[in-house]
Amino acid sequence: MNHSDPPKTPPQKPGEDSLHPATLAVRAGEFRTAEGEHSEALMLTSSFVFANCAEGEQRMAQNAPGNVYSRYTNPTVRAFEQRLARLEGAEDAVATASGMAAILTACMALLQAGDHLVAAREIFGSTTVLLSKFIARFGVEVSFVPLTDQAAWVAAMRKNTRLLFLETPSNPLSRVADIAFLADLADRHHAKLVVDNCFCTPIFQRPLALRAHLSLHSATKYIDGQGRVLGGAVAGAAEDIAELRAFVRSCGPAMSPFNAWVLLKGLETLRLRMQAHAAGALALAHWLEAQKIVEQVYYSGLPSHPDHALAARQQSGFSGVLAFRVRGGRAAAWKIIDATRLMSLTPNLGDAKTTIVHPATTTHGRLTAAQRTAAGIDEGLIRISVGLEAVEDLQADLQQAFARQ
Ligand SMILES: *Cc1c(COP(=O)(O)O)cnc(C)c1O
Repeated sequence: MNHSDPPKTPPQKPGEDSLHPATLAVRAGEFRTAEGEHSEALMLTSSFVFANCAEGEQRMAQNAPGNVYSRYTNPTVRAFEQRLARLEGAEDAVATASGMAAILTACMALLQAGDHLVAAREIFGSTTVLLSKFIARFGVEVSFVPLTDQAAWVAAMRKNTRLLFLETPSNPLSRVADIAFLADLADRHHAKLVVDNCFCTPIFQRPLALRAHLSLHSATKYIDGQGRVLGGAVAGAAEDIAELRAFVRSCGPAMSPFNAWVLLKGLETLRLRMQAHAAGALALAHWLEAQKIVEQVYYSGLPSHPDHALAARQQSGFSGVLAFRVRGGRAAAWKIIDATRLMSLTPNLGDAKTTIVHPATTTHGRLTAAQRTAAGIDEGLIRISVGLEAVEDLQADLQQAFARQ
């Protein structure tokens, strides 16, 4: 290889990549301009010039090489897409303005009026709204089933089911679905399984290797990892991603080059950060289990978790998000959260800074009391997204908050 050229990064089939994820995270999707810069350039431009009219005609053709306009393609965004695709073991990926834009894009590209979609009940709040309020408005039938109830998934399937959608591990209780089982179910019905891989990232879970059809992200969370930008992406087979890209290209939920540049940097440290988040979460989960005020800890890395064995088999690590239920319901939970000093009270997660939230009145506040009970969101539940601070300091923060009960 000529040292002025970045290494070539051809798309690979899941599981067939010759390079280790640690290497892909810093090398996949590299590009270099004639200036020879070492780090990928931030190409902040809305459009690209043609040398002459003949080249303009060529480049305007659908899927022609070369850039035209940043809603279609942009080199910085493309580098992010290629790096993420390689980490997911996918043929290709498309970047979007946010995680919600990624979910919208998947639905718009894969569904049409008359189709049916089955989604897990335990999904991100805005995703529930997107599916049940907006997608349903366009003649798509939507059913919700409990994430871990395989019989319910089987029973929900209809002749016109085209899409299965889930998040695993779930927010905030870390429930884990068997991806391979649901991928087979989707295949038998000529439907596609879409996995929101936000909590594990490709570092800990590669849904395509478990035969899921698309792996999707809110890159806003762990992929950025420092709470700076919004972004999303979907990875999968080239044929599927081409359909999604056509929607982004014509309908506009494209990723900003600036955000792509931040997220490309995020991917380089994702592996190290995920390992630190998970180690911190496991240590904190064990400590919480020993606290008198804590009734139950929900973290799939704990042997006491109902899905621990499946998580250990399906994931190569556990996420940095955990939840715990305290004695005394909402009053006690609010008092503890308000008494923390170090942790940030904000619903975001996957940040270097630890965040703490009361799911029943924030992230899951839009659900009815009955829906919350069904989803296991108790009033005494507290969710923590463990950041990169020292675990001793996080424990001390909770200890002083517990002591003030
Ligand atoms: C945050 C989040 C989303 C939505 O992503 P945005 O980037 O906020 O649009 C989707 N799924 C999960 C699991 C999330 O945590």
